[in-house]
Amino acid sequence: MTNVNQIAAICPKTGPATCAPVVSRTIGFSVQGKPLEVQHWGSATAGLRVLFVCGQHGDERGIRRALGDFLRKDLPVLLAEEPDVQVCILADANPDGAAARSRLNAQGIDINRDHLMLEAPETRAIHRFVQSWQPQLVVDMHNFPSRREHLTTKGLRLGWDVCMDYPSNPATGFGKGHPVIDNLMDALKLDLGLNGYRFGRYSILKADGSARHSTPHLVDARNVLTLRHGAVTLLLEARNPGTNESRTERRHVRRAVAHACSGILRWCRQHWEALGQLGRDLPANDRIPLRHRRRVDDAGLEVPVAAVDNSEESALHFPTYRPHTQGRRRIEPPFGYAVPLAEHGLLQVLARHGFHSFLAGRGERFAVSESIYGFRKASNQEGTSKLPGVSRLRYDRSLEGFVVFPYAQAGGRLLALMLEATSVYALHRRLPSANEIQPGTICPVRRVVAPCSPTGCDSIFEVAS
Ligand SMILES: [Zn+2]
Repeated sequence: MTNVNQIAAICPKTGPATCAPVVSRTIGFSVQGKPLEVQHWGSATAGLRVLFVCGQHGDERGIRRALGDFLRKDLPVLLAEEPDVQVCILADANPDGAAARSRLNAQGIDINRDHLMLEAPETRAIHRFVQSWQPQLVVDMHNFPSRREHLTTKGLRLGWDVCMDYPSNPATGFGKGHPVIDNLMDALKLDLGLNGYRFGRYSILKADGSARHSTPHLVDARNVLTLRHGAVTLLLEARNPGTNESRTERRHVRRAVAHACSGILRWCRQHWEALGQLGRDLPANDRIPLRHRRRVDDAGLEVPVAAVDNSEESALHFPTYRPHTQGRRRIEPPFGYAVPLAEHGLLQVLARHGFHSFLAGRGERFAVSESIYGFRKASNQEGTSKLPGVSRLRYDRSLEGFVVFPYAQAGGRLLALMLEATSVYALHRRLPSANEIQPGTICPVRRVVAPCSPTGCDSIFEVAS
């Protein structure tokens, strides 16, 4: 799948002692056929693997430049100090978008909103690579605009140089924060602060005084890569300096990014045992939350801002702050999910994710739970949608004509979120065929409770509503 097509050695000006051998591999191609290149740094036998992904949004040139600085000046020195770390860099995840200075790829897809559906070849390449290389940590790098209209009308811009956010879907186990992740955030805040940089948790701030962090929905690299591959994925956002900011200020942001990347790698080295288990073990035995709610934190959020004209620093208070997500509608992990062979759209998405599945034998019977669509309507940030009703019928049946996806596989929790009838993230509600769903019809995906023994299933007749 990946081929080694170039071997080179990059030596920074500091001298050959800090040379790092670089192997460049093509992991896929963009829509217009441009290669997606991953540089591999450090020893291939080092135990800790960290992947940096940059440029999913093609118009964010500042962050690609900052990453280039980090590679030239900092990474070789750092790897000489930390021989147990190997690093892969996908410096340009959207080369078509970068060439056109567009946020989107050449199909008009926002790659960082495509991690659930995997419609873009660029997103599929990232997932294939993460699945094969198995990094313990992924850092997804972006630029954020610091000039929001509700701030610039007050003559202010956001004051952070670099922000970070972590997975927030409650099924990842990080929805309410996590001691290990909190430790990383605190360490970076302290380290960057001591070196004159402003660091904080990436926040979405509204004119009405409300503040929250990145979406818990299954759309971006952060939540989906974490759930699918157990690779904890952090979002790193650097301030996009305004046109009137000086070269010194631009350089300041680039150095802040390099400092944050170095800080992350050093922290990984010190905490690699905790990190190795972080994405894999934590919520494995938990019941799976199919929805979420955000709770208001009465303390509000204090946000550093700077004056647009002279960069003088101050702070703004956002009183309606929702820092964490709380899981709702938790279910026990089932044996698996059965998808009808006729559901091509669904099966295609599951195949792109590389989930394991099997076809049930003719004589095999399973205890199966079916959900019947009701009349409920639900509203969320993505609009109003029909939710399946809670009527549920459970009985034993043959699953001939279905593909069965067992829960017990890597990414099982993601499978449940994608396939449970009442999951707010469910795939079958996102496909074009979802418009044809009428109340009273059976949800196409069946929850498989357990396989039956040759003598049949025990006490499984149940009608619930
Ligand atoms: Zn971006």
